[in-house]
Amino acid sequence: LGGASRLYTEDDPLVILGSSSLKPTISNSSSAWLVQFYSSWCGHCIHYSSTWKVLAQDVKDWQEAIGVAVLDCAQEENFDVCRDYNIQFYPTFKYFRAHSSPGEKGTTYRGADRGVQSIRQLMVNILQNHTRLEWPQRCPSLQPYSSAKLLPLLGQKSDHYTAIFVEEPDSYVGREVMLDLLLYSGVQVKRALSSDLPLLDALKITSFPSIYLLHPNGTHGHLYSEKKLRFFFSSLLRTLPGVQRRSSSAVAHVGAPSGKQDSEPWRDFNRSQVYTADLESALHYLLRVELAAHSMLEGEKLKVFKNFVTLVSKLYPGGGSVVKLMETLSDWLLSLPLQRIPYQAVLDLVNNKMRIAGVFLGEELRWVGCQGSRPGLRGYPCSLWTLFHVLTVQYDAVPNALENTGLEVEAAPVLQVMRHYIRTFFGCQECGQHFEQAVAAGIHEVKSPGEQILWLWNQHNRVNARLAGSLSDDPLFPKAQWPSPSLCASCHEEKNGVHVWNLDNVLHFLRHHYSASNLSPKYSL
Ligand code: FAD
Repeated sequence: LGGASRLYTEDDPLVILGSSSLKPTISNSSSAWLVQFYSSWCGHCIHYSSTWKVLAQDVKDWQEAIGVAVLDCAQEENFDVCRDYNIQFYPTFKYFRAHSSPGEKGTTYRGADRGVQSIRQLMVNILQNHTRLEWPQRCPSLQPYSSAKLLPLLGQKSDHYTAIFVEEPDSYVGREVMLDLLLYSGVQVKRALSSDLPLLDALKITSFPSIYLLHPNGTHGHLYSEKKLRFFFSSLLRTLPGVQRRSSSAVAHVGAPSGKQDSEPWRDFNRSQVYTADLESALHYLLRVELAAHSMLEGEKLKVFKNFVTLVSKLYPGGGSVVKLMETLSDWLLSLPLQRIPYQAVLDLVNNKMRIAGVFLGEELRWVGCQGSRPGLRGYPCSLWTLFHVLTVQYDAVPNALENTGLEVEAAPVLQVMRHYIRTFFGCQECGQHFEQAVAAGIHEVKSPGEQILWLWNQHNRVNARLAGSLSDDPLFPKAQWPSPSLCASCHEEKNGVHVWNLDNVLHFLRHHYSASNLSPKYSL
């Protein structure tokens, strides 16, 4: 079977097992495993693969307690192992407890007609059915705590938050939130039941589920959640000050040489605003650093650069110095009959001629919403995303802004220019290849300015999902699905127990968030 017919790829957030990796992965493992044995020619398996991928994404952060995997029995090299595990029908679902012996063949469960929520609850049950001796190493206790254990914690200082999650006995949300927080340090979630009357009395809890939060400094109180949904609770706890996603980056990060950024003062900012200082710094970096790697602009490169400058000159919101600079640059590029322009000529124009005319970009990089907790994190790529989100929203607000530029013939002109810019100039080549694949596969579906905004938002979230916990993840700004419930509660909903976006509300939010009226000039020149 060729790669094209495989149902799962390395990009899916699950483990693809084969004959040589099945046993070493699941036996003596510190976590439990849920494995789907499928066949890539079986119609039901093909149909079911979308559910399995949603599940894998939904419980990606539980992997240190219980992992999700697949094994394709239609591949010749796997015939023996599927026979050995007695797989007669596809798909067959098995789970393996943590620390199971190499001879263990797993427990089969009925799965193919189950939705994501039902399997997720099964996963909680599987975890809870481990004995103390075989308990998955990183899995917290999922048993409810009693008031006798919890109340003495009130008023005590600690090095972490304790979230007391109070819920009805048959609710799974508390245990799901605990597992969602497995990869985060700085907060512990303890479950308590609504039947524990002394606890309800002492904490004045009247509705369920609820979180009562004990702060490290000994203070405590209710944690307000706009909606009583798993995603909201998990997201609120993950974004408490000082709570960080544990990642190998915290230990193994080979940081950029510490430089100027180290000594720079922290700039306070508001996450619900966009900062012109970030947009200006993006252009500063792009023109003075990224472009400098190309000593001569000619052919396709020159065309891509011209289109980028034209787009920004027409759509950059708020007028001012930046627009004047980009307009001048654009006029200059378009008026030159040359087929090749040395980069130095662009730089001279940006640096000297503009300054004489009183039009210039900031002399230095000044990240605000894109500040990283360490040099080498966030900064330029963050600001480039931000710039393009702003441009998609501005194009939606003023669709005729591109008239007579030649760019208006495209249904998604901002995405097209971004695609070519990223492919040609963006320093991270692998990022460019990923982005190119995504655009090539999806751009034809974009038919309107609103869809263009949503496409870029969705693609950015896919990148966030892929990068969560990776080396580029700033522990102070962990990659998460965006906007968080605290930025936009109405963007989030639940359908059949699975988080879904309300796309109308997301679009409404993006139109406001990245609009000219939400740009803050603070820290800008
Ligand atoms: P960023 O992801 O850069 O986000 C910047 C800001 O945008 C956030 O602070 C938030 O305010 C807002 N935001 C977040 N999500 C969304 C959304 N869905 N919609 C709208 N706004 C949002 N790095 C890699 O390691 N591998 C890659 O393959 C890769 N591909 C990339 C492709 C492109 C086109 C770009 C521009 C960057 C890519 N990067 C990649 C870099 C990576 O995506 C981040 O930009 C970088 O790690 C910095 O992350 P950050 O935490 O500052 O947030």
